[in-house]
Amino acid sequence: MKVLVINAGSSSLKYQLIDVDSGEVIAKGLCERIGIDGSMLTYKPEGKGKFEFKKDMKDHTDAIRMVLDALVDPEIGVVKSMDEIDAVGHRLVHGGEKFNKSVIITDELIKEMEVLTPLAPLHNPANLMGVRACQAIMPNTPMVGVFDTAFHQTMPPRAFLYGLPYEAYKEHMVRRYGFHGTSHMYVSQRALTKLDMPKEDTRIITCHLGNGSSISAIKGGKCIDTSMGLTPLEGVPMGTRCGDMDPAIVTYLMERLNLDKKGIDNYLNKKSGVLGISGVSSDFRDLEEAANNGNERAQLALDTFCYKVKKYIGAYAAALGGVDAIVFTAGVGENDRGVREKVLTGLEYLGVDVDFEYNRTCPRGEEVELSKANSRVKVFVIPTDEEMMIARDTAALTAK
Ligand code: AMP
Repeated sequence: MKVLVINAGSSSLKYQLIDVDSGEVIAKGLCERIGIDGSMLTYKPEGKGKFEFKKDMKDHTDAIRMVLDALVDPEIGVVKSMDEIDAVGHRLVHGGEKFNKSVIITDELIKEMEVLTPLAPLHNPANLMGVRACQAIMPNTPMVGVFDTAFHQTMPPRAFLYGLPYEAYKEHMVRRYGFHGTSHMYVSQRALTKLDMPKEDTRIITCHLGNGSSISAIKGGKCIDTSMGLTPLEGVPMGTRCGDMDPAIVTYLMERLNLDKKGIDNYLNKKSGVLGISGVSSDFRDLEEAANNGNERAQLALDTFCYKVKKYIGAYAAALGGVDAIVFTAGVGENDRGVREKVLTGLEYLGVDVDFEYNRTCPRGEEVELSKANSRVKVFVIPTDEEMMIARDTAALTAK
């Protein structure tokens, strides 16, 4: 079964065509600058190189049309016709409390997502543009929505409630939802296969560390807590997002810096995190390089990030009543050996015994175990694969 996986942002759209039965990615790519001058499609059919097409895309419908044209192209295409695409799986960011698993996309679901738009004003409308574009061009192809929030819906109220009046939750939907759920689910399921113990007893901490970062506590395969909250701003400091802080800072800085609502939103989402601390970059490669060249603020940004990740591991070990495995994933977790070393140093008290030499030399892009054979807690690096997870859910829900 062939599934087209779509991850639509406001001006970009990532796609992968996946053969779910073989697990093969048949083609993938990206539409950039949709609705902006200089639109471009990147198209990478497996084994046939990489192609770039610069052509105006006034909206997501134009973008999807270009993607499909490339996929069925007689020379560089990978399928003979659109009919070979059995289903489309859409990454949807915010499913609120309504969606605890993937669902077939219907008009009713679209209405429900519109209700949730205030919770994800940038993401949900962009996701829906991708859905509508596919519906317009592929009206007879079944579509599935896979939510970033769904995996976290098993959190108990004591974990998802904030210390606010209960009405904030009941009337205004204010609670912890969590994000990156598809990634946390994928890597925790992979980790489960590596632990030689009954699933219901397992306690896993997954660290999705990328441009956006979140940590989750997973007991018996189910999420019991996660670091992102109502929005993806909470938790550890990220590339440009502030993460946890005293909420009084918001009004204090609005006054001191004369910022309005948009201004403070931009400050906390785009100017903070490791970029804000370092003044160098939001990219951990740049931070590592600058720190190695003696830039103290780059070093401080890395130290702050690692310290907060470590604190979450400690908190979640307490929440889980111990820990059996710690998993690193996403751009930083999979690649930044220095970050992993700093986070894992000093966790011996938990029963973590890491082969730090192997952490420095282990291959990238594959699943590896960093803990020593006798370590009570297993430590894994597991490359995430949200697209495969979306494709599998889509296939499962639409298989005839
Ligand atoms: P993601 O959001 O998961 O795509 O992660 C993207 C981030 O991963 C980038 O912004 C970098 O900070 C980080 N990253 C990617 N490759 C490396 C690397 N080789 N070393 C350190 N950090 C990396």
